[in-house]
Amino acid sequence: MSHHFDFLVLGGGSGGIAAAVRAREHGARCAVVEEHKLGGTCVNVGCVPKKLMWYGASIAHVLEDSRDYGFNLNGAEFDWSRLKASRDAYVARLNDAYRSRLQSNGIAEFRGRGRFVGERAMEVNGDRLTADHVLIAVGGAPRWPDIPGAEHGISSDGFFELESCPKRVVVVGGGYIAVELSGMFQALGAEVSMVIRRDLPLRGFDQSIRQALHEALRESGIEVLSETRVERVERNGDNLRLQLSQGRRFENVDTLLWAVGRLPRTSGLGLESAGIDIGEEGAIPTDPYQNTSAEGVYAVGDVTGHHELTPVAIAAGRRLSDRIFGGMRDRKLDYGMIPTVVFSHPTIGTVGLTEAQARSNYAEDVRTYEVRFTPMYHAFTSKKHKTLMKLVVVGEEERIVGCHILGLGADEMLQGFAVAIRMGATKRDFDETVAIHPTSAEELVTMR
Ligand SMILES: Cc1cc2nc3c(=O)[nH]c(=O)nc-3n(C[C@H](O)[C@H](O)[C@H](O)COP(=O)(O)OP(=O)(O)OC[C@H]3O[C@@H](n4cnc5c(N)ncnc54)[C@H](O)[C@@H]3O)c2cc1C
Repeated sequence: MSHHFDFLVLGGGSGGIAAAVRAREHGARCAVVEEHKLGGTCVNVGCVPKKLMWYGASIAHVLEDSRDYGFNLNGAEFDWSRLKASRDAYVARLNDAYRSRLQSNGIAEFRGRGRFVGERAMEVNGDRLTADHVLIAVGGAPRWPDIPGAEHGISSDGFFELESCPKRVVVVGGGYIAVELSGMFQALGAEVSMVIRRDLPLRGFDQSIRQALHEALRESGIEVLSETRVERVERNGDNLRLQLSQGRRFENVDTLLWAVGRLPRTSGLGLESAGIDIGEEGAIPTDPYQNTSAEGVYAVGDVTGHHELTPVAIAAGRRLSDRIFGGMRDRKLDYGMIPTVVFSHPTIGTVGLTEAQARSNYAEDVRTYEVRFTPMYHAFTSKKHKTLMKLVVVGEEERIVGCHILGLGADEMLQGFAVAIRMGATKRDFDETVAIHPTSAEELVTMR
């Protein structure tokens, strides 16, 4: 069958659904094509199940500290499979909620893998779909390393399929997904080693944060092997044997998790038949208005290969629909000053420029303020996680261009500061704001 729409969206994840719903609100006739579960990476194998596992890990940390607060909770047991069952049920409810949302908005859903067969024309399970405007929001997928035996490992998708907590885990990679999953494994009972190619985890983050995180990971009991690569993986009965660079080996590994980046999911999409250019590593380049090289075809979210975050995909998708169907001709997403959080233990919150970026942009006009302290929560706990806060300011007026926090509560602390910084807050604005006591956040407005 052939169908024609005003707006056809390929990919029912964060960006695609947000764009379709907004377009519908502006009166467009819309369809979404999805081959797996509605909600995409974030709902099914990303932010949502990850955050639930992080809550589980946080409870494990609190239980550890509870003795120092006078509780005697001997014999507390943890059942990974029970947490997984509750988590999966929650995710299934979200999948249903997304379906209801499409239905109640009158958005057509086509199940199956979509593929371009011409300009603004697609084929899905024998149906031919055409539209005046087409959005590509197919997201990304985990990257696999090209080494012998790589197939014995799992990716972050596989993490969410584990039915029990492995005893001995090796996580390869130094990005935020590697850091987060390592922390969860460790807190929930595994012995964890992280293998990273560089000297420190979280390339691209501020150097002070990277160093502080490195220390925090080690203090929590995670072994971090810097400047190391996995060269070969072999199965040895139920376990894995890993050959590392510099002659090191790991024996008896239960679970090997590759967290070595993600790639846009563009292969086999037939983009060439629709005149859509593909850039580095399969990403679809766009202009600031999300236009691809083909007229009437747009891309948002992870498939564009940058700022791979759910709220970014959503915001770009909504603004695009406002522009095309809502008459807001100049509407587009400003990709500057996007705050982000790493759900490590303790968490990291960061917005704006790192010190290195600021120095390269503004040379000697840059000044930094930095504090490191033990938060009051750890006043008498035997395990202590330090907090680090850093402000990067420029010019005589000391406009804040970067704010970087590692510590308890950084995840919830950052959003409000991000608003102020985006509005152009200066160090003096922070200084003039009366502190909230006793909190960690007050340190950000009392730095000298
Ligand atoms: C482990 C992990 C943790 C994360 N944690 C966070 C976090 O805490 N905070 C945050 O902001 N971001 C997080 N992210 C990133 C976030 O999930 C993504 O940035 C976001 O989902 C991107 O949205 P999207 O719309 O671009 O793509 P997706 O949400 O991936 O949606 C793409 C959809 O397109 C479908 N699709 C692909 N090809 C086709 C096709 N040919 N035909 C039909 N359907 C197709 C896919 O099945 C998928 O449902 C995390 C990611 C991972 C992997």
